[in-house]
Amino acid sequence: MNHAALNTGSDIPTLERWLTGPRFAALPMRDPAHPAPHLSFEFFPPRTEALEQQLWQAIRRLEPLSPRFVSVTYGAGGTTQARTHATVSRLVQDTSLTPAAHLTCVGATKDEVDEVARGYWAAGVRHIVALRGDAPPGESYVPHPGGYEYASDLVAGLRRIGDFEISVAAYPETHPGALSPQDDLDALKRKLDAGATRAITQYFFDATVFLRFLDRCLAAGITAPVVPGIMPVSNFAQAVRFSAMCGASIPPWLGTLFEGTENDPETRRIVGAVQAAEQVRLLQANGIDEFHFYTLNRADLTYTIAHILGVRPQS
Ligand SMILES: Cc1cc2nc3c(=O)[nH]c(=O)nc-3n(C[C@H](O)[C@H](O)[C@H](O)COP(=O)(O)OP(=O)(O)OC[C@H]3O[C@@H](n4cnc5c(N)ncnc54)[C@H](O)[C@@H]3O)c2cc1C
Repeated sequence: MNHAALNTGSDIPTLERWLTGPRFAALPMRDPAHPAPHLSFEFFPPRTEALEQQLWQAIRRLEPLSPRFVSVTYGAGGTTQARTHATVSRLVQDTSLTPAAHLTCVGATKDEVDEVARGYWAAGVRHIVALRGDAPPGESYVPHPGGYEYASDLVAGLRRIGDFEISVAAYPETHPGALSPQDDLDALKRKLDAGATRAITQYFFDATVFLRFLDRCLAAGITAPVVPGIMPVSNFAQAVRFSAMCGASIPPWLGTLFEGTENDPETRRIVGAVQAAEQVRLLQANGIDEFHFYTLNRADLTYTIAHILGVRPQS
């Protein structure tokens, strides 16, 4: 994110600028004064041969867009450790992309987590997305005996292992388990103070939610980039279910937008691309120039949105 842009006219807070300033920038033109945004993409490790093929088709399609990095998730409780490692290693070996491996604290001792991190370092991986992770569904989170308790502890542990670039999670609508929004912001600051260099947010659909959060981050003295996580929706019903679990709210207008598309996946996908592109353009109009896309291992929506934003394949 361009903090210089964010801080321009520092006496006008981001939210006020959003409310009073121009709502839309023109659609992107080849204008050096308005460069295309920086993107990164998230994938998850595939469970089957068919899903593996789908993942690699998506990676190959998105690779020429030269994202800053591509991240690969770590299944709940570290259940995908081997598959995450295999996917990240293949990204290092077979692509021009910079991979970031997600790593969590749950279900493992510090030594075991450190061993995984050392394995990444040895495989040439230099970027980790450091997370606490979650307990299995229906259970509360309890740190593993001898394990890292919170993501901030993991960040500090990783710093001792290698000179990793470290990204951490942030929650514009507050983490569901946090005692309060302020506690959650303090937790984010601790992760950055422990050595993380970027926060990537949980997805959200209302641009004001992110802008208000960013104002609070800036007021708390957070200067590291806080990169908005963008989830293009192709299946609204699934997005509603998932959002209930992770604490992302669904604004009523989003339901209206997808109304009547229940049996019409083609229209749904186009609507999803338009909605996400507009969300990004609203944020761009407020000085945000970096975005992290939750691809769900599909390239079509993300590629389309990137194209609309002026991101073109590099030779
Ligand atoms: C971008 C992104 C990527 C993700 N990728 C994955 C993934 O690959 N695999 C996966 O399993 N999950 C993933 N998650 C989900 C994440 O693991 C969960 O949201 C988890 O519940 C919190 O992880 P965290 O790293 O934010 O935890 P933390 O930052 O440790 O915070 C967890 C909770 O504890 C509170 N807290 C933090 N420190 C303290 C403290 N010292 N004292 C008291 N309370 C404290 C926080 O406010 C918060 O409520 C991802 C989330 C995001 C946003």
